[in-house]
Amino acid sequence: MLGDTIAAISTPRGKGGVGMIRVSGNRAVEICESVFLPKSGKALSEIPSRTAVYGAITAPEADGCRVSVDDGIATVFRAPASFTGEDTVEITCHGGILLCETVLASVIAAGARCAEAGEFTRRAFLSGKLGLSEAEALGDLLEAKTHAQMKLAHAGMRGRLSSRCEEIYARLCSILAGIYVKIDYPDEDLAEMTVPEAAEALEACLRDLSSLASTYKTGHAVAEGIPTVICGRPNVGKSSLYNLILGHDAAIVTDVEGTTRDVLCETASFGDVTLRLFDTAGLHETADPVERIGIDRAHRAMEEAELILAVFDANVPPTVEEEALMQALSECDCAVIAVLNKADLGTPCVDAYRAHFTHTVELCARDGKGLDVLRKTVAGLFLEGALDLGRDAVLSNARQYGAVLAATEGVRRAKEALLAGYPLELCCADAEGAMEAISSLDGRAVSEDIVSEIFSHFCVGK
Ligand code: GDP
Repeated sequence: MLGDTIAAISTPRGKGGVGMIRVSGNRAVEICESVFLPKSGKALSEIPSRTAVYGAITAPEADGCRVSVDDGIATVFRAPASFTGEDTVEITCHGGILLCETVLASVIAAGARCAEAGEFTRRAFLSGKLGLSEAEALGDLLEAKTHAQMKLAHAGMRGRLSSRCEEIYARLCSILAGIYVKIDYPDEDLAEMTVPEAAEALEACLRDLSSLASTYKTGHAVAEGIPTVICGRPNVGKSSLYNLILGHDAAIVTDVEGTTRDVLCETASFGDVTLRLFDTAGLHETADPVERIGIDRAHRAMEEAELILAVFDANVPPTVEEEALMQALSECDCAVIAVLNKADLGTPCVDAYRAHFTHTVELCARDGKGLDVLRKTVAGLFLEGALDLGRDAVLSNARQYGAVLAATEGVRRAKEALLAGYPLELCCADAEGAMEAISSLDGRAVSEDIVSEIFSHFCVGK
């Protein structure tokens, strides 16, 4: 039991067929007993765990008398067999906003307190019902807007990543145990690991960590989204491409130069990847001070991009400014795709652009012809084809990736210390650091601040 009894409306605030009020904590059943009266005449405390009963939901009037406000279902889950690991009652009523609020108020008046955002999931984490990466995956599942995000989150919830981390942790543990035997009994011929064997085992861990780290490229592209900047000179079709990818008219499209002056930004799903898409002002020399500011902002957005879609008019040879842009793009270290637009009007100049880029796509932003090829090209750059999002362990956020990098660093240093013949204690300290980093991924060794930060993104009622 982790403490007081909390309650919240767990269904969305709005009119719906049903609404659900969740109550969790050591007094959950006792509190709900005064609110919910089973039609069978039995008290809630007599209802077996994981059983739903039909009954009257009551609330106090101003004079203290209780009146029935709705008929509904109460489901009792006794600790530890509940989502939070605590005694939990879920009261399902009809889904009116005022009705749900009245039932919640009734539960609060009976002794529960309002739950904070994510507090049910936080309790599930604290009672060991789910690891931190599984809690993050649950948050991702609620936020998922694409099928790929949903698949990834579901695999995370089923503990794919946690199991992989546990394997790495266990391997490090057994290497460390072998080295400790060597430290404690230096002269005895115990069946401990030799130095080359320990180094080889650490190398195998490094390979494992490196393959796990490599999944972040895909996880990031699917879950967090790729910062993607559309750039090019005025009138080549940047805003048309922006609207085409988003699927609605977010940016104004005209043949007047300088229409897009500021940087526009929206998130779009693009096949299996998610794009954080930026439309920018046309890049060209201008005396207009407002346009100038827009162009500076475009350059700043390009510096932070992970993908640049450089748009050109396939019918017109590159201008001097476009030659300079292509030169600059050939030196930048993010992924670049040249979009050769207005292909419906012809493609006489494509070779002049193709020569500068590894990836080019001919497109008609007006009717979307070529968009499939662009989608495949982006997927080829950002998705690891061999990964199965629904089954494999995939790192889906920067925190998890950071933990794997820290673990990698610890193992690398442990191996170096071992091979350099430093005191074995140094090697152990580095290996222990790596184990701590790997445990932080799943919350076994993570700071209170990080836990609070993660759960603060959940909604109330989850
Ligand atoms: P931006 O200034 O680069 O953002 O360009 P816009 O998207 O505003 O488009 C400039 C003009 O080109 C508009 O009149 C568009 O309708 C037109 N345009 C954009 N894409 C295409 C295309 O693929 N084919 C043709 N024919 N016209 C296009």
